[in-house]
Amino acid sequence: MLLLWGGCCHAWEQQTQAVQTLLETGTAIRVTSTDDRESLRRETLEPFRVVFIMTQGGGITDEQLGGLLGFVRDGGGLVVLHAAAGAFRESGAQEYFRMLGGKFRSHKYGDFRVEFTGEHPVTRGLRGFDVRDEDYVHDLYPDVERHVLAVRTSDGEPVCWVRHYGRGRVLYLALGHDRHSWNNRNFQIILYRGTLWAAGNDRPGLPQARIRLPE
Ligand SMILES: [Zn+2]
Repeated sequence: MLLLWGGCCHAWEQQTQAVQTLLETGTAIRVTSTDDRESLRRETLEPFRVVFIMTQGGGITDEQLGGLLGFVRDGGGLVVLHAAAGAFRESGAQEYFRMLGGKFRSHKYGDFRVEFTGEHPVTRGLRGFDVRDEDYVHDLYPDVERHVLAVRTSDGEPVCWVRHYGRGRVLYLALGHDRHSWNNRNFQIILYRGTLWAAGNDRPGLPQARIRLPE
């Protein structure tokens, strides 16, 4: 799996380490992490099964965007976390956001409740929970289908969804600003199962590792 991080305002070192621990423990997944967007070029993505993007802001070249779109369209898995719902905006990158199914618009920060909607292997058996995080609001493409897995109860905004793009599977999770979400077991389970699901596993179990970001 390729893990792309970088940009402003997040504890990248802690969060990339957490992703690695969560996903590598007890699985065959091996994480290569980078902040170099050149890694999204098609030939560079060839060895990977999943691309996990949590990078913030900035831009993307046509070759990088084309590489990522082609990777997913041809059956690669894509996980987009938190700030990556607004990544690459300096370049427009409309097809990235259409592939994702929505685009970050705005947020404040505070406590809210998340409830799960419908049945899906990623959220199977999970119960609603309270969390402190940035309360992302999105521009949602009305003509793009999304299977919403979780919503914020205060305003009904989707917090997690899945979709298909070409032959690839896409999972998006809006949570993840800081340790309050990262240390939440539901967040960890969604990240773990969501990545395995994106990689083609239709019945992912529970993560063996527990992660804890420091205060
Ligand atoms: Zn954030």
